[in-house]
Amino acid sequence: MSIKKHLNFDSLRQAFSDLLYQTDDPRQKTKVGYKLHDVVMSGFACMFLQCPSLLEFQRRMSGWFGRNNLQTQFRITDTPENTAMRDCLDQVDSQLFSPLFKNYLTRLQRGNQLKQYQFLPGMYLLPMDGTEYFSSKKLSCDCCLQIPSRTGVVTYSHKVVQAAIVHPSIKQVIPLMPEAICNTDGTGKQDCEINGAKRLMQRVQKDHPRMTFIRTGDSLYAHTPFIKETLEQGDHYLFAIQPGDHKTLTKALKSVVFSEHREVDDKDRKFTYEWIEQQSLTADSESIKVNVLRCRLTTIDKKTQESKTTFIGTWITDLPINEENIAHLVSGARARWRIENECFNTLKNQGYEIEHNFGHGKKNLSFNFYILTLLAFFTQQIADLCDESYQAARKKMGTLKSFWQDVRALFNRFLYESWYKLLEDVTYNTHTYIMPEPTG
Ligand SMILES: [Zn+2]
Repeated sequence: MSIKKHLNFDSLRQAFSDLLYQTDDPRQKTKVGYKLHDVVMSGFACMFLQCPSLLEFQRRMSGWFGRNNLQTQFRITDTPENTAMRDCLDQVDSQLFSPLFKNYLTRLQRGNQLKQYQFLPGMYLLPMDGTEYFSSKKLSCDCCLQIPSRTGVVTYSHKVVQAAIVHPSIKQVIPLMPEAICNTDGTGKQDCEINGAKRLMQRVQKDHPRMTFIRTGDSLYAHTPFIKETLEQGDHYLFAIQPGDHKTLTKALKSVVFSEHREVDDKDRKFTYEWIEQQSLTADSESIKVNVLRCRLTTIDKKTQESKTTFIGTWITDLPINEENIAHLVSGARARWRIENECFNTLKNQGYEIEHNFGHGKKNLSFNFYILTLLAFFTQQIADLCDESYQAARKKMGTLKSFWQDVRALFNRFLYESWYKLLEDVTYNTHTYIMPEPTG
């Protein structure tokens, strides 16, 4: 089965180009050097290839051949210098990128790729989490959060609430447009994240009114206002709770009898699942009722035959719980780690270099680089999910690191008509690049 036409690299890149050409350039009134499209797409290419020297290499290639790979593969007419790209990206309104996340998700839907993510009929798991992607005591911009220490030293940072569609048995995650946690948000850290999450979900509702989500998250989200909003918006929830954050409920759970279900997996690990429905979340007489589920794992040491029990977690949900679905629900609650592992860690590993190499900017640069890194990651997740040429090339090179090293080496040295020609050379060790006559 070949990749659906609207999910290949060229179509995704074209959708991005279309969006940029439709956008008003904020700099139009003054003298503009490079087109908005070329600048933003260059930023995307740098993140996609994870190469801070990309623009220099490609400008050099243009000098030799009159063309370069940013032209042939990313349709960039004029390759900007790093400084020009950075200055322009700093001015770009981050909301510009929001429609692209929606566009890519719709393409996955049309390409029949989203269906497999259904966790319950018609429902998708949506873990949400706050993450800090920048922190410094020296560098700062207008959009930085400022946290003063007792000694008066200010720590500057950028945080977002990130949500992604995940499934416990699928490695790839589908990120949604992140929501920045702004310094005008509230006073406490928790206030900020939860307000960011509210704004995020209002936008998700607007963008995807027909989708139903099971929102998952840590105990920060497991409070009445956010739960009420979740239900009002037609979604469901599956949030972790903590004894420290949920004292009333934790105390009440000590004197109730849970229903129990046990399962042994193929590694001889014993899972004990427990649940009870219709418990009051708070001490308030008007408190909302929640269904509670918890899980513990018992393993037996092969040498000593001693058994060890690990407590896995306690969650609350509005979904009905029974013997048939409890193991599945717990797997859904636990799939939250996918957003941490697959999404944040990849971004942090890639993003660190970017911040280090491109600077912080004065206004929107930092958040725009985060979004471009996320879009590059999204494009790669789609390829990983359904692009056979990409999958073959990835498989050939073993680790992700060596794959990208090889791609970068070819991209910066040889001129290719397309991304797929380059992938062909990675996979089959052929020489499909073009060697036009040097112009100079
Ligand atoms: Zn900043």
